[in-house]
Amino acid sequence: MEKMPVLFVGHGSPMNAIEHNAFTEALQGLSARLPMPKAVCVVSAHWVTEGAHVMVSAHPKTIHDFYGFPRPLYEVQYPAPGAPSEAEKLAKNPEILPDEQWGLDHGSWSVLRHMYPNADVPAFQLSLDEHRGFKEHLELGREIQALRERGVLVLGSGNIVHNLRRIDWDNPSGAYDWAVEFDARVKKAVEAHDANSLAQPQKWGEALLATAHPTVEHYLPLLYCMGSTDEQDAVSYPYEGFDFGSISMRMILFGDPKPVE
Ligand code: ZN
Repeated sequence: MEKMPVLFVGHGSPMNAIEHNAFTEALQGLSARLPMPKAVCVVSAHWVTEGAHVMVSAHPKTIHDFYGFPRPLYEVQYPAPGAPSEAEKLAKNPEILPDEQWGLDHGSWSVLRHMYPNADVPAFQLSLDEHRGFKEHLELGREIQALRERGVLVLGSGNIVHNLRRIDWDNPSGAYDWAVEFDARVKKAVEAHDANSLAQPQKWGEALLATAHPTVEHYLPLLYCMGSTDEQDAVSYPYEGFDFGSISMRMILFGDPKPVE
């Protein structure tokens, strides 16, 4: 079986789940081009736990983990089956605990419902262990590489820049200078497959990191994508741009089997 590509998606607002825009069209376009995965393993910014957990449910529930959004968003169900056999393979690693409580949070379904609207591709999640540092997240990312050889799509769902406190409602597609700078640093390191720099973003400036990510959970899924790829995997950006000054919507595809010339 050919190695599956790896995808990082900047998911942005939960409203993207029910909207149709250039970002959601890019997701649709991707699923049409990529090989059909046997399952999707999502590392979502929205599942932070003590210790790394893997969701082993056969029928994961749809979790509406946000507040103050319009009712139609709470009515979305994404009834994809789980992938317990793949999840249990990950749980053979003593550092990863099987979890039957979690389902699919909006970091997963707000993206997957555009890629696989029929909810017919099994999906499961790997959590972010709150006690790990950047390098330890990268190391765990390296432990899940074999998923690709089994036809599983590794999907990191976060945002390259994510500061909700600095949202600028008057600037729907603009970006602050610091957001542009952090995004560019990441892009350069990704292109060089410089995983070590990506695992030390504080070296780009403590203040820059703290502004781009007041909390780091939206950054961390990228380290799992980096861990499961190497310099052989060509990098491309199916979507890029900023929302409201402080959110990078950059999408990164690693190992595109059919690169666009
Ligand atoms: Zn989010």
